Amino acid sequence: MNNDTTTSGLTFDIQLSDRRKTPQEREALLESPGFGKVFTDHMVSIHYTEGKGWHDAKLEPYGPLSLDPATAALHYAQEIFEGLKAYRHPDGSLASFRPESNAARFNRSAARMAMPELPEELFLKSIELLLEHDGDWVPTKEDFSLYLRPFMVATDVGLGVNHPSRSYVYLLIASPVGSYFSGGVQPVTVWLSRDYTRAAPGGTGAAKFAGNYAASFLAQAQAVEQGCDQVVWLDAREHRWVEEMGGMNLWFVFGSGENARLRTPPLTGTLLPGITRESLLTLAPDLGIPAEEAPISTDEWREAAESGELTEVFACGTAAVITPVGRVKGDDGEFTVGDGTPGPVTMRLREELVGIQTGLRADKHDWITRF
Ligand SMILES: *Cc1c(COP(=O)(O)O)cnc(C)c1O
Repeated sequence: MNNDTTTSGLTFDIQLSDRRKTPQEREALLESPGFGKVFTDHMVSIHYTEGKGWHDAKLEPYGPLSLDPATAALHYAQEIFEGLKAYRHPDGSLASFRPESNAARFNRSAARMAMPELPEELFLKSIELLLEHDGDWVPTKEDFSLYLRPFMVATDVGLGVNHPSRSYVYLLIASPVGSYFSGGVQPVTVWLSRDYTRAAPGGTGAAKFAGNYAASFLAQAQAVEQGCDQVVWLDAREHRWVEEMGGMNLWFVFGSGENARLRTPPLTGTLLPGITRESLLTLAPDLGIPAEEAPISTDEWREAAESGELTEVFACGTAAVITPVGRVKGDDGEFTVGDGTPGPVTMRLREELVGIQTGLRADKHDWITRF
């Protein structure tokens, strides 16, 4: 990465915080930061105005935004986001995993929500700048990382509903996060949601669009009421085809040992195209485990679990990397996958992927960007 602060014709104004945390305060916060609760000293912002393009790029102190109550995003939810992590490698350097894929997906989400695209080099530059100034916030502890949250919101002031906003702000904030599983990897119990739908054909399911989450909270609450940890989304038409789990994609392991093979639901337009999912489509065959994209119904899930042909199920995403699914519950009963504990294929893929991300395993596919 270059050290110039000019990218895509934009020069970033650097406004350093005079209220930076002291090293002692920072270390205390990094002890057990939880997820998305602690934020670094700075953030990046870049404004967009129709006709003018992207302008006013800066690194500035992390702090509240001042918004007019009639700001478009607050009314009509024109808002998209991304999620990726920065890791501290054993040699002390900072790295992230496939950030250009997040930049590309951000622009696909933007296109779906009638928002302007952000040049990939600006997306990457914002990460580079924030890490340059807040790099000390990338934890050194095993399984800890700095979660990066780029997002874009519509900033037009006015309640007109017939057209997208003509102005936007892109923001990047960062939050140190601890190990998702304190005390070892724990399998989750999932609820098959037949009362609610996450995404329908032609809808917004493939975009990392904020409103998809707003629409999911009630189903997640129902899953918790049913004694489950997470909701599993099914297709909108038949509530029969498995799509994803909460904010993670799903994988099914058939057979075991030398005969293990993987399946994940295909990207029909209603699933979020996870970068972890896509990486596993490459990584599993590297390890000698065939992986295919093919539909799976809830009936096949139950029957194959009961016959023993289905040996493991896990979910994958940036935040928790890989989470085993131990038990499945729906309005027609419940069943266990394998013996309900994390399986060997799940754990092997997890170790390999985390190893690449944290610099402990060879990066054969050039997935790592150093900052
Ligand atoms: C972000 C997200 C995922 C996982 O994507 P990754 O790129 O692997 O982090 C899966 N499903 C939903 C709904 C998501 O929002």
